[in-house]
Amino acid sequence: MVIPRRILIVGGGIAGLTFAAALKYYGARADVVDLAPEWRPVGSGIAIGFNGILALNSIGLGSAVQERGVPLNSVTLLDSEGKRMNGFRFSSVADAYGTSTIGIHRGVLHDVLADSLEESPRLGVTVTALREHPKGVMAEFSDGTNAEYDLVVGADGRNSQVRKLIFGEVEPHYVGYCAIRVVVPRPSGFEGMCELWGSGRRMGILPIGENLLYSYSTFLSAKGIVRDPSQNLNLLRELFADFKGPARHIVDSDPDEASIHYGDIEQVILPQWITKRVVLIGDAAHAMCPDLGQGGSMAIEDAMTLARSLVDSTEIADALLGYQTKRYNRVGQIQRKSRQYGWMVHRQTAPACAVRRSVVRRLDSNRLARTTVASLINPLA
Ligand SMILES: Cc1cc2nc3c(=O)[nH]c(=O)nc-3n(C[C@H](O)[C@H](O)[C@H](O)COP(=O)(O)OP(=O)(O)OC[C@H]3O[C@@H](n4cnc5c(N)ncnc54)[C@H](O)[C@@H]3O)c2cc1C
Repeated sequence: MVIPRRILIVGGGIAGLTFAAALKYYGARADVVDLAPEWRPVGSGIAIGFNGILALNSIGLGSAVQERGVPLNSVTLLDSEGKRMNGFRFSSVADAYGTSTIGIHRGVLHDVLADSLEESPRLGVTVTALREHPKGVMAEFSDGTNAEYDLVVGADGRNSQVRKLIFGEVEPHYVGYCAIRVVVPRPSGFEGMCELWGSGRRMGILPIGENLLYSYSTFLSAKGIVRDPSQNLNLLRELFADFKGPARHIVDSDPDEASIHYGDIEQVILPQWITKRVVLIGDAAHAMCPDLGQGGSMAIEDAMTLARSLVDSTEIADALLGYQTKRYNRVGQIQRKSRQYGWMVHRQTAPACAVRRSVVRRLDSNRLARTTVASLINPLA
């Protein structure tokens, strides 16, 4: 077992906090720094795939996420009129693995992970320099302090500073669509998750609490348009004005402005995530399209695999190589599938949408369920 004594985790999001929790589980600890000046509850929802919950189970945190979230036992695909195109139930997953995919508020997920730790992260701080040498890594911080570490973990998201310091500038790749996320009251009887597909637009809706519904809407758009945040709700209403069925509830609701988030969808694809003593996990290593709802679960799986790899190795460099070897193809596969799914969802012309509708209607829903489940099982867990 080689869990080093001096570990720095940069970024206290899903990846960083899960890794810190995994270290604690194995009897180790880390310094965690996060650029955010305060722990703000992230005002939107997230679906954590059953594979992410299974990974959390191995450090005893899966049940807390299940208890505080909502099981998503079914997926229904609708057209923009609200008419059913296809759908499936996840009941076989629940039976086989004792969990389903969970809808949860991001702030609640964050609390579950953060509450499992004994120490609070240092907030409002980032790394400004990392100097790696054979015996360690010297880290300089934005508050003027510095410290020597055995291992530095970059868990600082899509625009990772650790990645920039170690591998140089890597521009995330814009995939052609943006997202608006909102949280609204949950009407009684709304169960499972659904997606409505229109021309170049998609709205997903899922429960994340007894009284809360989360919706993510994506739409084709030019890169990097700077929008007035106070207009995000109007934009959502305009873009989805012709959507019917459950989309009406989202478009007609009046969510708190703090719960509305807008952003470009970008991917990060790197040839490697490690040096001998620095490693990237989560979005810092491989931000992906949200279409399969797997970025968070991949971050969790990364964190668990890295912790386990440290436990199983005698040299830090071997542990990092073991982590990258186990994760690289798995993540790449999910990243590609998510991109393909996103491509199909955002078809725009009337003929392309008609072909898509007819193909989706004809898909065998049992087979769809089986292949979805099979693609999410982590074969190396
Ligand atoms: C529209 C949309 C919907 C999504 N839906 C889902 C979903 O349903 N299910 C799912 O699994 N995934 C989803 N994802 C993806 C998911 O949000 C990410 O994959 C996940 O949050 C990655 O976790 P992370 O910890 O790697 O990064 P982040 O969550 O980005 O956390 C990074 C942390 O690092 C901190 N940080 C940033 N920069 C620095 C710095 N320079 N120094 C120090 N700290 C820093 C941040 O404050 C933050 O706390 C979605 C993404 C989008 C865009």
